[in-house]
Amino acid sequence: MTLASIADAHCDTLMLLTGEHPAGTSLCDTLPGQLDLQRLLASQVGLQFFALFTVPTRDTGVNLRRILEMITQFHRSVVASEGRLRPVVSASDVDSRDGTVGGLLAIEGLSAIGGSVEVLEALHMLGVRSAMLTWNERNDLADGALEQASGGGLSSAGRRIVQAMQRLNMVLDVSHLGERGFWDLLEASEGPFIASHSNARNVCDHPRNLRDEQLKALAARGGVAGMNFYTQFVMDEGPAKLEDLIRHVRYIADLVGPEHIGLGSDFDGISAWPEGLGGVQDYGNLRVALTQAGFTSAECEGILGGNLRRVLRTVLA
Ligand SMILES: [Zn+2]
Repeated sequence: MTLASIADAHCDTLMLLTGEHPAGTSLCDTLPGQLDLQRLLASQVGLQFFALFTVPTRDTGVNLRRILEMITQFHRSVVASEGRLRPVVSASDVDSRDGTVGGLLAIEGLSAIGGSVEVLEALHMLGVRSAMLTWNERNDLADGALEQASGGGLSSAGRRIVQAMQRLNMVLDVSHLGERGFWDLLEASEGPFIASHSNARNVCDHPRNLRDEQLKALAARGGVAGMNFYTQFVMDEGPAKLEDLIRHVRYIADLVGPEHIGLGSDFDGISAWPEGLGGVQDYGNLRVALTQAGFTSAECEGILGGNLRRVLRTVLA
């Protein structure tokens, strides 16, 4: 295991920075939540996705403003970090560099762009490199995972946005997308994509998790599913243990191979997690649990970061 090898495809820390924490707080400060820059560095996390999440409303202007505020918070943190936090915007930024964390901006639900390719391009210019079309809800682009009644997929606008994302070399993220939308997105795109923070539905039957056929399709395209630590997506009920999360890893590894598994912790966006995995400082416990479950050190390295990096090197090229 090389230094700073962990890569995580989802956290909500920027949401807390622009909302709950006092003004002027940055990722460089000691934060009360599940991660901050100091702990990322100490925990050998070399690459961290930072989600730009807004609660969907009909007022796209409000949501776009919130997204811009979070992007500003991220770039202020980059400046304040004096080189320890660096934006990941191209393939050459993906490999870990000692003493630094690469931060990748990812929009969690594109409701705020109102179907505009130009607004998407503007966000790309500000450093955004990954996006999900919806956050559970039905919007202009697609139906989300919790919109069960309509069974809707991608709209024409949704397809245009997918094509624009491909032209801009942005990462397509199917987490939070409804099932029909998943298959539409597949048809409208090429190359590897990710499910940044979704588990196996056959292990925990929640609409935010992926069915076997979806996992197979994701793997066939060389993609990665990031394992989500939120208890609700790990097991049906009761407090979760690390072994319960490992059950998803083992299941997906047996189904499609461990090279299609990554991490999507959802840190700072979840209210319950497996015992012994309460923040980035606990990744050592996860490493031990993976090893005890019989994964080789090469497989562990892939699951903890190498597999996600492989996708990013391809897409951000
Ligand atoms: Zn989410």
